[in-house]
Amino acid sequence: INVFTEPIKTLIDFTEQFQNGYSGFERFMEMISVVPDIKDAPDAQPMQEVKGEISFENVSFHYADSDQMVLNHVNLEVPAGEYVALVGSSGAGKSTLCSLIPRFYDVTGGTIRVDGQDIRKIKLSDLRNHIGIVQQDVYLFAGTILENIRYGKPDASREEVIKAAKEANAHEFIMSFPDGYDTDIGQRGVKLSGGQKQRLSIARVFLKNPPILIFDEATSALDNESEKVVQESLEILAKGRTTFVIAHRLSTIRNAERILVLTENGIEESGTHEELVAKGGIYQKLCEMANLAQ
Ligand code: ADP
Ligand code: MG
Repeated sequence: INVFTEPIKTLIDFTEQFQNGYSGFERFMEMISVVPDIKDAPDAQPMQEVKGEISFENVSFHYADSDQMVLNHVNLEVPAGEYVALVGSSGAGKSTLCSLIPRFYDVTGGTIRVDGQDIRKIKLSDLRNHIGIVQQDVYLFAGTILENIRYGKPDASREEVIKAAKEANAHEFIMSFPDGYDTDIGQRGVKLSGGQKQRLSIARVFLKNPPILIFDEATSALDNESEKVVQESLEILAKGRTTFVIAHRLSTIRNAERILVLTENGIEESGTHEELVAKGGIYQKLCEMANLAQ
């Protein structure tokens, strides 16, 4: 189960039933604001000039339908602008940890803060407006390419959309379609490759311009060649933003400023690639298996 797409998928199924005669986009926006159980606190605060410093203080978490703890007393300080990679076996809780930042779920213990502010006290829409997410599955709705990118910032001009598409390495393939940005990608529209879809989702995030990013296995469904192109765009996008990366391939996170190894015991190791290889622990063994430890 992918914790990011799970609620969204339900939404989409639901949305599709309503799409006839409706703008799918408006419907989607309407639905997304009512879906989660998570609500604004009565005194929810707006966020001002978010730098993107994130801290986990003694954070514990279990899903509502299970008493098995996924995170146990996790402590983590991420300075604004840091590029952090999460490594760990499948089921270790990497996606869960990241999904707590935009409050797809609330912590069951401890506190998460953005710039020192408890995220439960921030206006939810404000919090989410400051977080960009790129994940394996891309949600595209029936409509044009332009509309789909504009989803990242509903009031964006055409020029802004094009600028974002260029930054995401998407402009060229978009212009290769006869209708360019007005190309329909609905059921009877053009078929996009996985890499093209991913570049549209990255364009959305460029347009949204958030200080905090989460990449959850963003390139794991792509072939080697489009993975390279997408990886490049992601690295450009990450510049100057606090970034959490969950990568299926260790080679893509070598240059992370910090690598965290998550196990059922929590964050077991933390350091740069070189530090963790020298340490000779779990990360070093993972690298050995992937032939990356020099
Ligand atoms: P990772 O991303 O490291 O593979 P996850 O965060 O997806 O790990 O999962 C951590 C644990 O939480 C796993 O045991 C998984 O089965 C469970 N889990 C994930 N999503 C849900 C969910 N929506 N409801 C209940 N349990 C979940
Ligand atoms: Mg995951």
